[in-house]
Amino acid sequence: MTNQPHKMNREQARDWALLLKMLRRRCPTKIPVRVLRRRIVIHGGDEINGYCDESRNGLTYVLYVSTSQSWQGQVDTVVHEWAHARYYDEHDWHDPEWGERFSETYRAYEDWTEPI
Ligand SMILES: [Zn+2]
Repeated sequence: MTNQPHKMNREQARDWALLLKMLRRRCPTKIPVRVLRRRIVIHGGDEINGYCDESRNGLTYVLYVSTSQSWQGQVDTVVHEWAHARYYDEHDWHDPEWGERFSETYRAYEDWTEPI
């Protein structure tokens, strides 16, 4: 599968910055989060949508979001990975308690996108 990286237009770039600002305010994390957009190829050549990692010095979480997916896919991925950052190293991936954290994060996103 060869995907061209999805380039954001100006409006999407602005919305992306606002989304991250909202997540930082409404869904705080223990340590700051950096978000990096790029193609993510894992061993074997498969691409994944994103993942959450801790920086080597442990001072930040780093969320990787794949640019091989649509704009909405990238938004969904950053919301999902943000929930990991809020729950990093506390529990197994995708356990019920993580699910609650994801639900809160998704709800913040939904509230933010509701028309005023
Ligand atoms: Zn996950």
